[in-house]
Amino acid sequence: MIITLDSEAPADTVRSILDEVAKHPGVTPRKYDYRGASVTVTEIHLIGPPEIMQTIPERLFSELPGVRSVVRVSTRYRLIGRHGERHESPGFEYNGVAFDESRVHVFAGLCAVDTRDNVRKMMSALAASGVVTTRMGAYKPRTSPYDFQGLGRECLPWTFELAGKHGIRIIAMEVTNERHIEEIQEGLRASGNATGVMLQVGTRNAQNFELLKQLGQQRTFPVLFKRGMGITLEESLNACEYIASEGNPKIVFCLRGVKTHLGDPHRNLVDFAHVPVVRRQTRLPVCVDPSHSVGRLDCAPDRLQDIFHVIGQGVICGASMVLVDFHPDPKTALCDGAQALRLEQLPSLVEYVGRVRTAYQDVCATAARA
Ligand code: PEP
Ligand code: MN
Repeated sequence: MIITLDSEAPADTVRSILDEVAKHPGVTPRKYDYRGASVTVTEIHLIGPPEIMQTIPERLFSELPGVRSVVRVSTRYRLIGRHGERHESPGFEYNGVAFDESRVHVFAGLCAVDTRDNVRKMMSALAASGVVTTRMGAYKPRTSPYDFQGLGRECLPWTFELAGKHGIRIIAMEVTNERHIEEIQEGLRASGNATGVMLQVGTRNAQNFELLKQLGQQRTFPVLFKRGMGITLEESLNACEYIASEGNPKIVFCLRGVKTHLGDPHRNLVDFAHVPVVRRQTRLPVCVDPSHSVGRLDCAPDRLQDIFHVIGQGVICGASMVLVDFHPDPKTALCDGAQALRLEQLPSLVEYVGRVRTAYQDVCATAARA
């Protein structure tokens, strides 16, 4: 059972709820504060055996002053779920950047950090376009052991320093084990916290439960979870519930395409029709990654690249974040060069995302009036 408080709830509401819970042995209350940029939502979750929970009438709590709603939930997505009546999606804020349903962020950057000069050029292009969020892979899990695996810890000092110099506030960076989290923590500290990092779970690690638990146990960094490319949506959402259940609610759910040859010629079958599905089922901000699903730079007859069309599909569905590969010189990129946009395309991408977002807001406003 989830009891949600009014934002203006009287100070003694929590105490009254806990006093009531104490009358039901076997039921444990847990308090959660979800802090978004513009709203904080406080909830008390009651956990207990179903045979006891069934005997507790909702009105014991719904009639208390300061209680907005009481929802009975199954154990499925208890923490990340929207549960119908939990309309609000407070999102979260990290390093001065808000993630919620009222805006969209473009994380444009290198698939893999290769040279200092390329990082500098990327950061400088972002700053010129007013973008403060990027992607930079330092640890690259690759299908072949002979492919470039990323520069690892060695590139962190100058990557963070260059980010700080260009006003970049968050870098999405994949990690595959606890040591990578520690190295990022140390690197940031050494840089005087020049920037922030969103820890990325790659699609191949979507069910690496030990990694998910570690990401949940640390509360410093938000997590960008990439859906598993060969597992069900439900399995991927359960993986996010793992992270949340360990204590970290700052999660963004990323759609990145699913593996099937039915998606040819794209690298993976684009799955952005799941944006509204994830938004309906959970309160997680949703990211779309067009680069890894499309995987190439072909243009449609309308002269827009497939990558732009696919971004449009995600943003028109209300995605809160777009992750997209760029490279100053794609033909020399050591990883995923075939899908990297050129830096000169960044201003038009930013403008395109803004225009599609405006169209989405117009459509929503019309729907709200109907
Ligand atoms: C990436 O973002 O560079 C990446 C490897 O993504 P994915 O795990 O979705 O393949
Ligand atoms: Mn990549």
